[in-house]
Amino acid sequence: MKRVRWIQKTHLFRADEYICSRCGAVCARPYKACPRCGSVMGRTKYDPSWVDEMEGMSALLDSDW
Ligand SMILES: [Zn+2]
Repeated sequence: MKRVRWIQKTHLFRADEYICSRCGAVCARPYKACPRCGSVMGRTKYDPSWVDEMEGMSALLDSDW
C-alpha cells in the first residue's frame, strides 16, 4: 500500500499549506489523518515552494540582487 503523507507548502506571504498526497485536499494544519479521504498520514514532506516564489519576485524587481 502506498504511503500517504502531507506535502508541506511554504509560502512567502501566506500561511503554510498541507496537501494530501492521495486526494489533494489542502489543509491549514497537518492532521493525523486526511479529513477528506481518511488516510492516516506518515511523515510530512517539505516542499519549499517559497523558493520559486522568491525567484518570481526577484524577476519582477530589477534583477540586480
Ligand atoms: Zn486525502
